[in-house]
Amino acid sequence: MDSSCDRHTKPFFHKIIHFRLFVLIGYYFCPISHSQSILESPIEFLRGVGPQKGELLRSELQISTFEDLLYHYPYRYFDRTKISKIGSIDSSTEFVQIAGTLVNIYEEGEGRKRRLVAMLYDDTAQIELLWFQGAQWMKKSLKENERYLVFGKVSSFNGIYNIAHPEIEVWNPESNISGMQPVYPTTEKLRLKGVTNRSFAKLTQALFERVKIGDIPEILPGDILSQYKLCNRLAAIKWIHFPDTEEHEALARYRLKWEELFISQLQIARIRLQHIAQVGWKFERVGPGFNEFFKNHLPFELTNAQKRVLREIRTDTGSGKQMNRLLQGDVGSGKTIVAIMSMLLAIDNGFQACIMAPTEILAQQHYMGISGLLKEMGIEVQLLTGSVKGKLRKQILANLMDGTLPIVVGTHALVEDTVQFKNLGLAVIDEQHRFGVGQRARLWKKNDMPPHVLVMTATPIPRTLAMTMYGDLEVSVIDELPPGRKEIKTVHRKDALRMGVMEFIRKEVDNGRQAYIVYPLIEESEKLDYESLMAGYEQVKIWFDENKYKVAMVHGKQKVEEKERNMARFVKGEANVLVATTVIEVGVNVPNASVMLIESAERFGLSQMHQLRGRVGRGADQSYCILLTGNKISEESYKRIQIMVSTTDGFKIAEEDLKMRGPGDLHGTQQSGVLKFKLADIVLDSGILEQTRVAAQNLLAADPTLSQPKNQMLKYALSQAGKQQQHHWGKIS
Ligand code: ADP
Ligand code: MG
Repeated sequence: MDSSCDRHTKPFFHKIIHFRLFVLIGYYFCPISHSQSILESPIEFLRGVGPQKGELLRSELQISTFEDLLYHYPYRYFDRTKISKIGSIDSSTEFVQIAGTLVNIYEEGEGRKRRLVAMLYDDTAQIELLWFQGAQWMKKSLKENERYLVFGKVSSFNGIYNIAHPEIEVWNPESNISGMQPVYPTTEKLRLKGVTNRSFAKLTQALFERVKIGDIPEILPGDILSQYKLCNRLAAIKWIHFPDTEEHEALARYRLKWEELFISQLQIARIRLQHIAQVGWKFERVGPGFNEFFKNHLPFELTNAQKRVLREIRTDTGSGKQMNRLLQGDVGSGKTIVAIMSMLLAIDNGFQACIMAPTEILAQQHYMGISGLLKEMGIEVQLLTGSVKGKLRKQILANLMDGTLPIVVGTHALVEDTVQFKNLGLAVIDEQHRFGVGQRARLWKKNDMPPHVLVMTATPIPRTLAMTMYGDLEVSVIDELPPGRKEIKTVHRKDALRMGVMEFIRKEVDNGRQAYIVYPLIEESEKLDYESLMAGYEQVKIWFDENKYKVAMVHGKQKVEEKERNMARFVKGEANVLVATTVIEVGVNVPNASVMLIESAERFGLSQMHQLRGRVGRGADQSYCILLTGNKISEESYKRIQIMVSTTDGFKIAEEDLKMRGPGDLHGTQQSGVLKFKLADIVLDSGILEQTRVAAQNLLAADPTLSQPKNQMLKYALSQAGKQQQHHWGKIS
């Protein structure tokens, strides 16, 4: 801020009214381009930083410019508006600010244990202040019988309270710190190198001294500010760093969250407008392929939900516009058949189609299923994954290029540039959440005209998540399971009951059923996890005697061929029991399997367990999901298990999962980059999300190209945000 303003506000910013005025001026006069903005200066040029700290800030927190520091927001504040009495400190006190007189300063202990002790007293009590480092220096700078303002974290030792390494200043109400002191996210390394929380506050303060009015212009149009009662941007950014009151902090946080979500909703709404305007292949007819399959090869009657979705797809693909549709349906709801029939529609109209799966096993299984169903109709299907090599690969690539191969099933190998189609009319993406947004976009470039895109996702997505992740897509829902399915019985069993569980599984197997036994495998404890998987496998082989039963095992460390061979044994019914890690999590379809035993269930997330459970209950028989846990589990694990036991409704489970874990964690969404918000949380701030969605739609309805003068700053901010994301997606796709 310029100096005339700063004089009044040092060291913190109380006179926000000034800023309001300046923002108004800034809004009208600031240049739209930020190219000369001081905010682009490298961080080491800020007073108090320099090359060494600059490098640290860059490597530890990715703060490389003034702007990055400006947007490095505090996550909490120390309330330094109040001065407490020493006598009021009790076991519930965490941080405290006190004022008093210092007496009895002395050093004690030897060598490394040497420390400085001082007593501070006020009219109620006294407390020990301690320094373990820099004792010499502190001793020189502190004076007995002088009044001090002290702030720090209270600990107790043998029932006596103390404050170690407090922030301490000579008492002077004119210059002492007051207000809300920001606490910044930082790292251990930075702290050790002396970049403390205090230094962050000081640097940010130094930054504000150099920032000019136009550097932080308002980007939201005035009517939106007043309609949604948002404070202006400059005030928000100042207040979030240095709020003078809790109200201002709340206003600032609200405004900045609103802006974040609004920008994201605008981006999505704009992509959606582009989709809607995008000319696409017109599938004019429902031809012989589709009809022949429907009459003679469909192994069952379609559910009403499946029929409805197919109608929606036919309408989309026949409209002359590109289809961008999300097909949502719980595990086992029968999405694959919808995909197959949509692909037949493409072929009937002279186009090629592809379906992409997230793993080799899934692609393989789709390949076997789809080619089996279409074999009698003489429609060729090929599998293209990373492990298809040599002559076969060349052949497939050539046939895709010359158009003689109508359907290809694959993994993300399909988006590689070497894969060229003659005329790709439809791309189906199964289990979308494993794909990055960038990969979806790359599919578009396979033709001059982008193909129709059908995205299928097994985990039902809570509404808030769908709005942010798939807001650009039209949504179809299969909300009905194929008839005759019995609800999967889910039970929780503790280790002590393992014998009974194994006997139960053996009975099921003796009745001709198959069973999955799944072990957790997480990166952090991979080695131990593999050990317990192997030990488990040996145990299972004792329960299931080799002479009578066959046990197969799949896990991520096996070679692809070995994994596939073992998986195939189970799929074909040659193995009775499959011991596995979560490699089988998505999609695998063995209708004869009736038991899913999840070992150490307390270590699984909700969505993961739901996915695993979805592997059984795919036939007409009663199926079971057994959640085996240790005898003692944490409250949170217990809660997850209880949710699993109480419902099989994927939507409910996904909502609970989102609540318990936060969106960043949810099925790999983090890598999509769409959900990275600095402040907003799509669960907790769903109210704001809803507002911004409406506001974004209204704004684009009135000004689709953002060409009105009042929307110019917003347009600029959007392009900046877009650039950053592209950078991000470029890295993951
Ligand atoms: P998901 O939606 O999880 O991908 P799938 O497409 O794998 O589910 O279908 C699950 C199982 O249900 C498969 O064995 C499939 O053949 C069967 N199925 C799909 N639709 C129907 C239907 N309408 N009637 C009976 N079985 C069906
Ligand atoms: Mg599936």
